[in-house]
Amino acid sequence: MQFTDFSLDKRLLDSLKHMGISTPTEIQQQALPIALAGKDLMASSKTGSGKTLAFLLPAMQRIISSRPLSKKDPRVLILLPTRELAQQVYGQLRLLVANTQYKAISVLGGENFNDQAKALSRDPHFIVATPGRIADHLQQRHLFLNGLELLILDEADRMLDLGFAEQLKAINVAADHKRRQTLMFSATLDHDSINDIATTLLNNPSHVAIGASYAEHKDIEQKVFFADHLDHKQALLSHILKQPEHKQTIVFTATRADTDRLATLLAEQGFSTAALSGDLKQSARNQIMDQFSRGQQQVLITTDVASRGLDLVNVSLVVNFDMPKFAEEYVHRIGRTGRAGAKGVAISFVGPKDWQNFLQVQTFLRKNFNFSTIDGLPAKFSGLSAKADKAVGHKVAAKAKAKTKAKSAVKAKAAPKRDKRFITGVDIGDAPMRRKAKPTAIVEQDIFDKNSQDLDD
Ligand code: AMP
Repeated sequence: MQFTDFSLDKRLLDSLKHMGISTPTEIQQQALPIALAGKDLMASSKTGSGKTLAFLLPAMQRIISSRPLSKKDPRVLILLPTRELAQQVYGQLRLLVANTQYKAISVLGGENFNDQAKALSRDPHFIVATPGRIADHLQQRHLFLNGLELLILDEADRMLDLGFAEQLKAINVAADHKRRQTLMFSATLDHDSINDIATTLLNNPSHVAIGASYAEHKDIEQKVFFADHLDHKQALLSHILKQPEHKQTIVFTATRADTDRLATLLAEQGFSTAALSGDLKQSARNQIMDQFSRGQQQVLITTDVASRGLDLVNVSLVVNFDMPKFAEEYVHRIGRTGRAGAKGVAISFVGPKDWQNFLQVQTFLRKNFNFSTIDGLPAKFSGLSAKADKAVGHKVAAKAKAKTKAKSAVKAKAAPKRDKRFITGVDIGDAPMRRKAKPTAIVEQDIFDKNSQDLDD
């Protein structure tokens, strides 16, 4: 099957040709006919499988071939959990709109709110956005979604994990009309709250699942090593990074503080290293990603902020310096390598504190790992008995609880008061068209930026 077998506009086929893409991937083959027929769709597919074009092509086709419902409102809204992911989708969308008269903008947390309000007033046809920021603009009446024709949610489970359910519901209410089509995509749809939100947002959707999320990724070799403590993990990492077969590497740590500390250490050891953490300004994050994608550093150290969707072709190794808290996150992290047919290696370090998370990954993947060893760097640790595991689990849980409590106290102090009517969405549908409120004061805007940044991570 070729893209020419679908009824796609010639300009889209030309763009695909220009991108060197001719044969649809499996998710594209299954999702395109449903989405092009105007039906709602819930789709899961492995990371790196071509999900983005599976929703961008039908979106473009719908806009090109149908009359708008409104001359002013955006026609397509694409929501993603993180700014990096949104930028990547926006990049692919721009390649497709370049051949047409349609306008696309991105509206992301961490960027200038007033500039975004101006861009929104120029009536773009497509918006790629993070949900927190879109909800803020809706609240400020910089944006109306009465004419929205297509709502696309990518990595929907992650958006819910990040606490965006209320914003998604508010967006749904603002665009609540019979002619709206909704597509929901994720690498994993095995998520408790996904079905709840799908019931609210989607209308009698078709389901497409390409390979279960736990399915083995044939292009990624997965290895695990026991590690006794932090120093041992660092020694293992240095040894692995010295192996000449790896091109670029992404190392995932548990916290932002670990990211910075490890980056300093590796730089001292002579590795060219970049650190990407969620508390950096957006411009700094963009610069780091840009330099890394151009191959200027060998190693990128980050938290889960970079675990989803990022498409970096030269990454041949992913290291879980710490195991992720959620098993699904493991799938996303290792999916940063082995992309578009290339081979990759994913290495995980498992120490006492990682044990519980490691067991969850094994259960999720339905796989039993055999541990590897490195000569000269053996581990004494070899897993925990159920009893010891419980004790470590309690200790870690108590620590995490104390941390969460302290964090929510700080957040509660900093959070701006939201309009309650907006949160419940009661008033949105009755909002008078195009009556725009004055832009918010700078102080408030900073708080919005800060909030979105927290949520978008
Ligand atoms: P995604 O899963 O959307 O992040 O896509 C992963 C990579 O696959 C991106 O670099 C896409 O440009 C590329 N890609 C998407 N569709 C195809 C296709 N049909 N043939 C070859 N490459 C593709």
